[in-house]
Amino acid sequence: MNDVLPSETPLWQWVEREIREVLESYGYSEIRLPIVEPTALFERGIGDATDIVEKEMYTFADRNGDSLTLRPEGTAGCVRAGLQHGLFYNQAQRLWYAGPMFRHERPQKGRYRQFHQIGVEAVGLAGPDIDAELVFMTARLWRRFGMRGVQLQLNSLGSPEARQRFRGALVAHFAAHADTLDEDSRRRLHTNPLRIMDSKNPGMQELIAGAPPFFDYIDKESAEHFSVLREMLERAGIDYVVNPRLVRGLDYYSKTVFEWITDRLGAQGTICAGGRYDGLIEQSGGRPTPAVGFALGLERLIALLQADDLAPAGARAPDLYLMPLDAGCVAAAMELAESLRDEVEGLKVQTHCGGGGVKSQLKRADQSGARWGLLLGTEELAAGTVSIKPLRGEGAQRTVTRAEAVAWLRKSLAAGHRAPGAA
Ligand code: ATP
Ligand code: MG
Repeated sequence: MNDVLPSETPLWQWVEREIREVLESYGYSEIRLPIVEPTALFERGIGDATDIVEKEMYTFADRNGDSLTLRPEGTAGCVRAGLQHGLFYNQAQRLWYAGPMFRHERPQKGRYRQFHQIGVEAVGLAGPDIDAELVFMTARLWRRFGMRGVQLQLNSLGSPEARQRFRGALVAHFAAHADTLDEDSRRRLHTNPLRIMDSKNPGMQELIAGAPPFFDYIDKESAEHFSVLREMLERAGIDYVVNPRLVRGLDYYSKTVFEWITDRLGAQGTICAGGRYDGLIEQSGGRPTPAVGFALGLERLIALLQADDLAPAGARAPDLYLMPLDAGCVAAAMELAESLRDEVEGLKVQTHCGGGGVKSQLKRADQSGARWGLLLGTEELAAGTVSIKPLRGEGAQRTVTRAEAVAWLRKSLAAGHRAPGAA
């Protein structure tokens, strides 16, 4: 579980802001959800033969002895909230959420126990058009960030009935090679054979590659859905590859599944993953309701932006470092800083706190990275003036009235105002 330090938060804020803007430009609304839910919600929603439920959840008993779990993903909670508040009743919803998720995994680069996702769920829409919209939205994000070389992989998992038939064929294939199955796969052979396809064990890959292709078993409606989706992507100029091995870790997917993958993050190359889960809402006690969504991993996205030098420079330094040169000026300086913030929109003022001589205050001013120092001594205080000292070599120090200082600051900021987070 990582701390995000002040040197990194501007990058996070920038990424989150850009994503939010893109999601909103497609008419998606934010939903904020609890971080803790009853354990049963995830057991039912995600499926108990998945990695998450089998071995990754942070589960504990609360003071009443109720079993609770730190959310390992957002879809189950989002569906619960939508059903509880009637959001899915006779209407479609386009929702997004952001926040920490918790999985007890083996920590490594790109894989953490607390990580952050931005998730999107479109509920109540059955067609391939909405699947395409989600792909367009993510593709737009990558373009906006200037990212290149993230590959879209696409597959269809068909209807539950088609998957049932496929499941039979898979069990037959893997059972015929039972001696080469690893322990996880042997256990899954009869609980969740599809999950064997998702195994990351290199020793299993050959066997997986030899499995029968799902497309031999796909139902007509899902095949049609898939081909319309592909047409829409092609029309939009979005490159993709069909990966028939793509099954996704979660149980509730049907029809479309997709992942955006990079080869520049080592083994943890999936930055965004999603798909259609038409069965989940009914299974959760609602009426049959189609739904599709995705989640993107912020740590992996940010790592990729950093690796490709696409992240803007760190925090914007203060514009102004205000120094009360004398103990008698401190209260007036505090007041001045407040009124400057009132009067000059967007101004970032840092007030020197903790006293000290002129020299030490100027040293702090320099360390702050501020563009200008503002000096308030007893003389300035008596005369109603302030002294402006350029700290980055822009002319000489000068003393002006407060009104002049305000006017000058407004002008200077308007001329050279940098967006927050930008270099
Ligand atoms: P993986 O196969 O890498 O374990 P997953 O299928 O478990 O991924 P999802 O549940 O689909 O992942 O989550 C969506 C995205 O969230 C992933 O594509 C990834 O970017 C991110 N993610 C998932 N687990 C972690 C983790 N432990 N640490 C960091 N990011 C993660
Ligand atoms: Mg996982």
